[in-house]
Amino acid sequence: MSAPAFPQPSAVKELAARLHGSVITPADPEYDEARRVWNAMIDRSPALIVRAADESDIAVSLAFARKHSLPLAVRSGGHNVAGHGTVEAGLLLDLRAFNEVTVDPERRLVQVGGGATLGELDRATSAHGLAVPVGVISQTGVAGLCLGGGFGWLTRTYGLTVDSLVAADLISAEGEAVHADAHANPELLWGLTGGGGNFGVVTSFTFTAHPLPPTLYAGNLIYHRARWHQALVALGDWATELPDEMTVIANVMVPPPEWDMGDEPILVVGFLWADPDHDAGAACVERFTRLAPPEIEDVSTVTWPEWQSVSDSIFPKGVRAYWKNTAFDSLSEEVINVLIARGAEQTWQGTAFDIHIMGGAMGRVPAEATAFPDRSSAFWLNIYGFWTDEEQDEHHVQFVRGFAHQMERFSTGGQYVNFSSNDERAPHGFDAFGVYGAEKLARLTALKRRYDPQNLLRLNHNIAVPDVDTDAAIP
Ligand code: FAD
Repeated sequence: MSAPAFPQPSAVKELAARLHGSVITPADPEYDEARRVWNAMIDRSPALIVRAADESDIAVSLAFARKHSLPLAVRSGGHNVAGHGTVEAGLLLDLRAFNEVTVDPERRLVQVGGGATLGELDRATSAHGLAVPVGVISQTGVAGLCLGGGFGWLTRTYGLTVDSLVAADLISAEGEAVHADAHANPELLWGLTGGGGNFGVVTSFTFTAHPLPPTLYAGNLIYHRARWHQALVALGDWATELPDEMTVIANVMVPPPEWDMGDEPILVVGFLWADPDHDAGAACVERFTRLAPPEIEDVSTVTWPEWQSVSDSIFPKGVRAYWKNTAFDSLSEEVINVLIARGAEQTWQGTAFDIHIMGGAMGRVPAEATAFPDRSSAFWLNIYGFWTDEEQDEHHVQFVRGFAHQMERFSTGGQYVNFSSNDERAPHGFDAFGVYGAEKLARLTALKRRYDPQNLLRLNHNIAVPDVDTDAAIP
C-alpha cells in the first residue's frame, strides 16, 4: 500500500474555512489528547482531526478525504477495541459534538446524536422513567455500540440496542443526507442493526424507550476459586428458567485493590432485575443462591444511571486492550473446566472474562430481523484484556487468543464485532463471511454498493466491495 499523501497546509486552511467546527493538526497543543482513543495499544497519528459541528461539516470532511485520498476514521465514544476510532496519517472525523438527546415521553421515543455517550442517553431517559437497552460502561459511544448490536443490563428484558432502533439519519459516504426508517429506506435501517459504520456517518438515531422503575434491584454475588464449579453449574441451571426481567452477567477477574478482596481472581455473578416488584427479584436470585451460596453478597436498590456507571472506574481510558468473544450453548462440564482453568490463570489485574446469559427478549427476535450475526446461543463469552504495561502486551494478547481458540470447539457460530479486536487470521483483520454468513453478508454488500461504492468508510469491521481494491487493511 502506498502511503497516503499528506494534505498541503493551504488545503487544510481551505477546509477549516468551510467548517463550522474546528480542525486540529499535529501543530496544535490539543492534538495529542484529541487523537487518543480508549485502547492505548492503538497509538495513531492522524494528519488532521475534524471536530464536526453539523451535517455540513461531515459532508465537507468526507469530500475532503476522498479528494486527497486520505484514509478516514469516524469516532464517537472512541471505545472501539479494534482501534477503528482513529487512523494513521488520515482524517479523523470526531462526532462528539453530536451529543444531544431528546426524549418524547408521550410517544416513548428518544432521539440520540451520533456522538452521544451511553451516560448522556441514560441520564436523559431515566428522568422520564424510561430506558434504552445499551452497554454497561457510561463513557462508551451509543453510535459504535448500536451499529454493532449492543449488549447490556437490559438485554434479556428489552433486547439488544439495535432491537429498539426505529430510525436513523445519516450522511452517506457520497455526502448524501439519508433518512432510514420502516418506510423510507428500510433495508438501510436493517443494515444499521449490526452492519457497523459501513454505510454512512450517522448523525442521529431514534430509539423506542422502555419503561423502567425509579429504583432497580441489582447486585453482585461473589465466589472464591473453590466455589466456582458449584456456582457455574448453578448458573447453567438458573439460565434455563430466567424470566425476562432478569439479566445476568457473570465475570471472573482479579478485584481492583479498592475492593479490598485480595489479589486472587474471583467469580462475580452480577444481576439486574428490571421490574418494580423487588420481592419477585429477590425470590428469583434465591433460586440461584440456594444452589450456590455466595461468599460475599452485595445487593442493593439503585437508579438506572447509578448502576450504569458502577463499573466505569475499572475501565479507564488509556489502558491497553485486546478482546475476543465466542457464543456457546451449554455450561457443560467441559466448558466449565476450561473457564475455571483459564480464570485461575488470570492472576494479574486487568484481564477478565464475562459470561452473558442470552435468551429472553433478545433471543425471541427473528434471526433475519436484524443484521446482528447470531441470536440462537444460550451464552456469550467475552474475554477482555486491559492492562497498562506495554511490556506485557505479548503475554496478555496471547492469553486472550489462547483462551478464545480453546473455546472454539464449543462455539455455536457468529461473533460479536464490538467485542473483537482484529482477527489475526483474517486477511484484513476481519472475516465478514465467518461473522455474518452468506445471506446477511450478501444484503450488507448490496447496501455497501449503494451507499459507499468506493469503500471510503473502510476503517471498521469492513464490508468490502468485491471489485473495488481499497486495501481494507489501512492502519
Ligand atoms: P468509536 O471508536 O468512537 O467508534 C467505533 C466505530 O463505530 C467507528 O470506527 C465507526 O466505524 C463507527 N462509528 C462510530 N460513530 C459513528 C457514527 N456516528 N456513524 C457511523 N459510524 C460510526 N459493547 C456492548 O455491546 N456492551 C457493553 O457493555 C460494552 N462495554 C464496553 C466497555 C468498554 C470499556 C469498551 C472499551 C467497550 C465496550 N463495548 C461494549 C464495546 C463497544 O460497543 C464497542 O467498542 C463500540 O465500537 C464502541 O463504540 P464507540 O462509539 O465508543 O467507539
